[in-house]
Amino acid sequence: MKILSLIFVLGLAITLTQPIFADFNKDKLNDEDIVRVQNLLAKLEPLIKEREAAQSLATLTFDEVYSPLNEEDKAFLKEFQNLKGDELGVTIPYRQIATGKENLVVMKNQKILLKGEPYVIPPQYLPPNVCQRYLEMMQAMEKDLGKRLYVESGYRSSAYQLYLFVYYLKNHDYSIRETTKWVALPGYSEHGAPQFQAIDFISADGISGEEKPEEFENLEEYKWLLKNANRFNFILSYPRGKPGITFEPWHWHYEE
Ligand SMILES: [Zn+2]
Repeated sequence: MKILSLIFVLGLAITLTQPIFADFNKDKLNDEDIVRVQNLLAKLEPLIKEREAAQSLATLTFDEVYSPLNEEDKAFLKEFQNLKGDELGVTIPYRQIATGKENLVVMKNQKILLKGEPYVIPPQYLPPNVCQRYLEMMQAMEKDLGKRLYVESGYRSSAYQLYLFVYYLKNHDYSIRETTKWVALPGYSEHGAPQFQAIDFISADGISGEEKPEEFENLEEYKWLLKNANRFNFILSYPRGKPGITFEPWHWHYEE
């Protein structure tokens, strides 16, 4: 009996000391939470820098992103990991979680011109079947147009997506709701969903979605994709005129 009540008291004490952040203001984090975000990012910075230098940020795992953190930070980051898109007005569908441990191929040495200067795209990762179909599609495009598109952005793990979400809060006045309009929550990005793997394309002379979406839309290569990509299992994820969706002509995903 005594042991049971001791266990009960201990259990209660542990429950009470677990930090609870679930009530954070989704429209604007309070000052205390903003400081928590900044401290969290400072603790993650060495890891991020290291992975950036090794060009392997895209395969960051959850274990790795949580490893430099104490229990309180972990619980705080977990709150972001657990955010539900439908409670925040997110209109893109939930896809899946990418662990960072999937079988992936690395695409190195993609050479293009960027603002007229030779540029090598940093290594990009793709599931092998997606890479294979992408290469077949490009072969067909080359044959028809004498041109091809390159992979500006492929796979990124959900842990890296989580980091990106927290990192970009500062650009949106620390509003979670506003940030979801620009940065996908983990699980919602097709870059981190191998069954729906997305590719952001860039042209040989550096036209991508980054700055000028209408320029990408005017590319012959884009028009070719509209006619032919479906044959290779690639689908335009965010077409023009779909309610609640921002048009992204460069972003296509693979689906069997
Ligand atoms: Zn994309």
